[in-house]
Amino acid sequence: MVKGTPSMGKRGRGKTHVRCRRCGRHSFNVKKGYCAACGFGRSRRIRRYSWQNKKPVTRARLV
Ligand SMILES: [Zn+2]
Repeated sequence: MVKGTPSMGKRGRGKTHVRCRRCGRHSFNVKKGYCAACGFGRSRRIRRYSWQNKKPVTRARLV
């Protein structure tokens, strides 16, 4: 998979993702049948990871 100009030729081959019914993002994979963003269709719980959010300053040494 390339990201640059060569990959533009692969556009228009049908959609991989459509708008998700649960999170509203354009991340519901039609072939796989689940949402890449929230996990709808894959799990009952919302897909979320700790690395999604920027961590607070706890890593900085305060002592
Ligand atoms: Zn979703």
